[in-house]
Amino acid sequence: MNPEAPTATELQQHPTVQAAFAAAWADSFPDDPALRHEEGGYIYCDPTTGEVLVRRTLPGELRVLDLTHPPKLPGCFLVGTYHTHPNPIAIGWDPEPIPADRREAQESGVPWFVVSEIGVFVVGPDRRVGGLGGSAGYPL
Ligand SMILES: [Zn+2]
Repeated sequence: MNPEAPTATELQQHPTVQAAFAAAWADSFPDDPALRHEEGGYIYCDPTTGEVLVRRTLPGELRVLDLTHPPKLPGCFLVGTYHTHPNPIAIGWDPEPIPADRREAQESGVPWFVVSEIGVFVVGPDRRVGGLGGSAGYPL
């Protein structure tokens, strides 16, 4: 039996994760039409220490970010992803997770966080499917 992964709520409350959300949001330049783009990355847990770690991925584009290649961290398992939706509601954008976010989160087996101007959305499973074991990356 693998140890349980942290839940989406536990991850969202973790200081490391909160700092990562804030940094990704700032780096998305939500107020700059020329520079605005999606940012995000991966959330990991070390089952031995309980430590939660994050790794940023390469910057995305206006409404695109590649989250298909989580790096491997020694002894750690992927327990979530996060990305920003920085395009403003004021000019007609929808900050909520798009259908592809919901589908890919479900298929990936880990919760996905979407950071927006009206808060953080979470889609996909409530915690990493199958616990902290098996493939270190996406469990499904
Ligand atoms: Zn998205």
